[in-house]
Amino acid sequence: MIPPAILEGITGFFQSGSNQPAQILSFHPVSGGSINQAFQIKTNHGNFFLKYNDASRFPLMFQKEAKGLELLRNSGTVNVPEVLLAAEAGKHSFLLMEFINSAPMKDDFWDDFGKSLAALHSHKAEKIGLGHDNFMGSLVQQNNFHESWITFFIEERLEPQVKHALEKNAISKTDILAFERLYQKLGDIFPKVSPTLLHGDLWSGNFMVNHQGKPCLFDPAVYYGHPEIDIAMTTLFGGFNQRFYEVYNRHNPLEKGWQYRLDIYNLYPLMIHLNLFGGGYLGAVRRILGGF
Ligand code: ADP
Repeated sequence: MIPPAILEGITGFFQSGSNQPAQILSFHPVSGGSINQAFQIKTNHGNFFLKYNDASRFPLMFQKEAKGLELLRNSGTVNVPEVLLAAEAGKHSFLLMEFINSAPMKDDFWDDFGKSLAALHSHKAEKIGLGHDNFMGSLVQQNNFHESWITFFIEERLEPQVKHALEKNAISKTDILAFERLYQKLGDIFPKVSPTLLHGDLWSGNFMVNHQGKPCLFDPAVYYGHPEIDIAMTTLFGGFNQRFYEVYNRHNPLEKGWQYRLDIYNLYPLMIHLNLFGGGYLGAVRRILGGF
């Protein structure tokens, strides 16, 4: 069931921009997300995708998601759904966007994906970070600007999650020592980073095949950082097709040692998963830390 205040917010939005009275014709739930309630909504103005949640639990989450999608869209490199409205209605906040109608993958789907992600990663910024927080899943992702990729990765990525996990008793003092051991070694492992725009949460559940048979990316956690962050996440829960990596690498050659860094970068989403979904992820975290 969609709260009536949200439905009114949506009809009000369409009504204000048109002479045609807005009507919700039908809606049904969309599965697959882990954080929000999601629906396909059919209206006399078209079909849309709606996500909603409790406004007070996740302040400005959808405004931040909309901002991230806009940054990706404005890069002109990857397909993302168009956002119509990010707003609050009663106790809820919601995000209304273009509905991605899926078609079969085109033959060059993975080539296209590799090439467009490489193009996204050519969008550079002066500083590492974003300058404002956003969300990774339902957890706040800090994006304070840093000069150093090492201090960014420690202070903005791993440490907040390590602290969170410790507060929940989800990790031990021994794990903390292992994280600290890793921090000492990052100077030899991380290259100098020239920050590029990232999707930030590019696992296989965050893209769909659109009506043209091309990749369409959603649910980002954008910032400017090392492109290998996105590459690492593609390998986390079932890798992408080999063609994707070949074509990506042709357009944006990966730096020496990239395979070695993937596990380190994936410590961040694994810690997020540990904090969101529990101890099942601790084994993977410890396995990676054990290698350093
Ligand atoms: P959550 O924020 O809860 O993780 P997602 O953004 O991942 O939710 O969306 C949940 C599911 O809805 C996705 O797994 C995908 O299958 C589907 N989905 C997401 N965005 C769209 C869209 N714009 N159009 C159609 N389906 C979508």
